[in-house]
Amino acid sequence: MERIITTAAFMFVPSPLNIAHIASTFLPADIYNKLQKVLGKDCLLVSATDAHGIWIKREMNIRGCSYKDLINDFHKKYMALFNKLHITFDSYSITNDPSLESLVTDSIMSLHNQKLLKESSYENYVCNNCLEYLPKRFRIQTEKIKSTGKLDILDKEKLKECCSFCGSSDIRKETNNNWVLDLKAGIDEVLTDVKKLKNVNVKNYLLSILKKEIKEWDITRRNYIGFLLPEEINPDKDMYIYLWYESLIGYALLSNCLQKQDTKFVHFLGKNIIYYHGIVWPFLLRHALHDYKTEIEISARGFLNIEKSDNELIEIDDIISEIGADYARFYLAFKVKDSFNDFNFTVKEAKEIINNILINKIGSFLDRCRKIVYMSGIKEFDDIKINSGIISLVKERIKKIENCLSYQALNSVLQNILGLVKEFNNYISEKKYYCSKDEVSIAQVCYMLSVTTCLLKVYIPEIILTYSIFNKTHLTVDSILNFNDEYHIKVTKFNKEKWEKLIY
Ligand SMILES: [Zn+2]
Repeated sequence: MERIITTAAFMFVPSPLNIAHIASTFLPADIYNKLQKVLGKDCLLVSATDAHGIWIKREMNIRGCSYKDLINDFHKKYMALFNKLHITFDSYSITNDPSLESLVTDSIMSLHNQKLLKESSYENYVCNNCLEYLPKRFRIQTEKIKSTGKLDILDKEKLKECCSFCGSSDIRKETNNNWVLDLKAGIDEVLTDVKKLKNVNVKNYLLSILKKEIKEWDITRRNYIGFLLPEEINPDKDMYIYLWYESLIGYALLSNCLQKQDTKFVHFLGKNIIYYHGIVWPFLLRHALHDYKTEIEISARGFLNIEKSDNELIEIDDIISEIGADYARFYLAFKVKDSFNDFNFTVKEAKEIINNILINKIGSFLDRCRKIVYMSGIKEFDDIKINSGIISLVKERIKKIENCLSYQALNSVLQNILGLVKEFNNYISEKKYYCSKDEVSIAQVCYMLSVTTCLLKVYIPEIILTYSIFNKTHLTVDSILNFNDEYHIKVTKFNKEKWEKLIY
């Protein structure tokens, strides 16, 4: 069976993790991974905390703390917040791992040996007061960020530059020899990968980039926190590796799957970092890691418009106390579309969606089924054939869901689940199961209830845990469908209490 490695773009210390990251990246990745598992696929979700970069240096200055304390503090905070939102990883790491350093170093030397790394002269900005190197974000004071995530600089003449480490405006230019990736030399393979992408938005965006001339990519940084460039190409030992290089190589390490057959990466990310994943990453995977087999898929979503969103829904702890973790998951999954469009969250809308969709449509179906089973008084049965009509409803929807997943259309998956619930509801009404007391009819209702909870636990895991009457008998839809159409379940006496508690 093909192994799917789902990745969620790494959080960079010291960025605070908020609902924008969850909505665009981590929740879609978590839902995708859990859905694939429920459908019986071999799927893993991996991610990591990015522990390098110039931001960390400045944050250590501001806080007056050690590198280790800063990283541990953020890493723990990220993990705690993921946990609160029931986002679960099969592997979650930190990028300062020594095994990543050796993989990164080897890959750079391999690129160098293939002459895919070049020396190129670059202009850097340095503060004369504190001697820090200053990328644009660290010398230009603006709060305005474009929707692409880049700084919005309208009038270059009026800009006042000042060092964000010490506040000095005494900044000089310095010319250095940097190592750059010769992306143009390997662009044919990248184009092949891009053409294969199933996500049309991402594919069209990348094809438009590839029509223009691709620039070389500078992987060198100075006065930085990160891995040193290998000694062979770093005689003065003053050059570090740009964090994006090691983040991308990190995907390979986390997945531990290079060169194995039948593997696919599915990357979840915000729309501002498609270039790294769609142009640089295939280049590195093929040329630096010599993996020509593993397929790549990319799923990108828009940004949260914070100005148009309610304050209570921005911080993760706030949204959980306002509407609860599972309801937050459902609202975000329902609201965020499978496109680059930006989105906003409001308490009023969250409550409407939770009430109208989750409670009125899905919750009332679950309650209806449970009530039918409970009122029938049947507590135990097995080996009852499920009607072919119901089986074909399920098979049809699962086929559609699998198709949506192939291009990461998670919103369409949710619409299909809602469609299935509606079909189940109609089926119950048509067959008048609501007044049935025979084992065969009740088994049909239990089957529909089982399929629905199996799919819904992906979105609302905690609620389903208390809603499920099946004691984990069926963990995957696959296991329900592939029982030779014979539905075998024991509704034990144990469940009676649970039903009584939940039916009101
Ligand atoms: Zn300075």
